[in-house]
Amino acid sequence: MSSEKMSSEGTSLDTHPGNWARALSKGLIEPVQLVREGLVGQQEAHALDAVKDVFDIRVPQAFLAGIRAGDATLARQVVPRLEELVFLPEELEDPIGDERFSPVEGLTHRYPDRALLKVTYQCASYCRFCFRRYKVSDADNNLGAEGLERAFEYLRAHTEIREVILTGGDPLSLTDAKLAPVFQSLAGLSHVAIVRIHTRIPTVLPERVTPELLAVFRRSGKAVWVVAHINAVSELTDVAKASLGRLVDGGIPVLAQSVLLKGVNDSHEALVALYRSLVTLRVVPYYLHYPDLARGTNHFRVPLSRALALVRGLRGNLSGFAIPRLILDIPGGTGKIVVEPEWARQTGPQTWVFTSPVNGAETVVNYPEEQSFSPE
Ligand SMILES: *Cc1c(COP(=O)(O)O)cnc(C)c1O
Ligand code: SF4
Repeated sequence: MSSEKMSSEGTSLDTHPGNWARALSKGLIEPVQLVREGLVGQQEAHALDAVKDVFDIRVPQAFLAGIRAGDATLARQVVPRLEELVFLPEELEDPIGDERFSPVEGLTHRYPDRALLKVTYQCASYCRFCFRRYKVSDADNNLGAEGLERAFEYLRAHTEIREVILTGGDPLSLTDAKLAPVFQSLAGLSHVAIVRIHTRIPTVLPERVTPELLAVFRRSGKAVWVVAHINAVSELTDVAKASLGRLVDGGIPVLAQSVLLKGVNDSHEALVALYRSLVTLRVVPYYLHYPDLARGTNHFRVPLSRALALVRGLRGNLSGFAIPRLILDIPGGTGKIVVEPEWARQTGPQTWVFTSPVNGAETVVNYPEEQSFSPE
C-alpha cells in the first residue's frame, strides 16, 4: 500500500482505493448545502432547483478550501448561477454535433482515425460551462454493459480507428472494477495503438489517481495518454500536483486542456501563471478551447477576437511548449479548428510580412516563390 504524507489540513493523501469515494461524497450537490456554505443566497437557492433540473450540481471537496478563502476562479467554475437559464438563439443543446456523428450509443466517430467512447456521463465536478451539460450528470445516459458491448462491436469492425478517446462525463469517476473490463476490451483491439483519457480528476478528485488505477491502464497494453482538464492555477493545490506527479511518474504522458472562461482565466496574467505552473509539473498545455455555443453558458464567453489577442500575447512570453493552441469546434460538428494569430502574411508574389512576437514590429522579407536553379 502506498501512503503519502498528511496535508496541512489533515486531509489524508493516502491513495488507498476507497479514499477517493469518501472525498467524492463530500462534494456539495444540493442548493441548500450551498446556502449553508454561504456560496449562494437563501433566495437564490429555490431558483437554483430549476438550474439543477437541467444540470446537476457538484462542487468538489478539492475546491472548497479555495472557495471558502474567496477564490472566484474556482467558485465561478462550479457554483451554479441563475444566468444558466438565459438562452441565446445561437446556443444549442448539442453544440458540436456529438449525436450527428454517433453511429452507436455512447460513441462519436467524426475523424476517421479517432473515436470518442463515452463510458459514463457522471463526473466528480459539474463544471457550469460544460458543453455536454445537457447529457452529462444524467445517469440514464450512462452506457450499460450492453451499450458498451455494442460500442466495442463498432470499434472492432472499424479497423481505421487507431485511437480510442475515453471521455464522458469523466471516465475516471468510474470505479476500477468498472474500468478494468473496458481496458481489457481495449487490449483486444489490435488496430488501436493509443488510448487517450480526457479527465478532470487530477484537480477535482486528486485521490482518484491510485497505483491500482495505473495498473488498470496498463491492462490495455496500449500507449495511454491522459489529457487533464485544468483551467486555473489555483486548481493546482499540493494534492492536485501530487496526483499529476503520480501519472507522470507512472510513465503516462500528461497533456492539459483548458477552456477560456470569463472571470476565470481570461487575462494574460492568469494564462501565463497557469501554463508556467503546468510545465513545471511536466504537464504539456495542449488545447485552450474557445467555449462552445452550449445553452446557458453565455456568461462564460469572451469575444473571439479577445481570445485570439490573449493567445497571441503568450508567444514571446512563454516557452514554446508552454503555449496551447486556441481551438474552436465548428458549431454543428464539422470539426475542431486551430484559431491562429497571424504571424506571417504574403503581400506580393515574393513578399512576406512577419510580425515579431517580441515587440510586434513588422519585417518585410523577400522570399523567392520558386528557386530556379540550374547547375550548368
Ligand atoms: C475533439 C475530438 C477528437 C480529438 O481531437 P484531437 O484534435 O485529436 O484532440 C476526436 N473526436 C471527436 C469527435 C472530437 O470532438
Ligand atoms: S468534468 Fe468535464 S464532462 Fe464533467 S462537467 Fe466538467 S467539463 Fe463537463
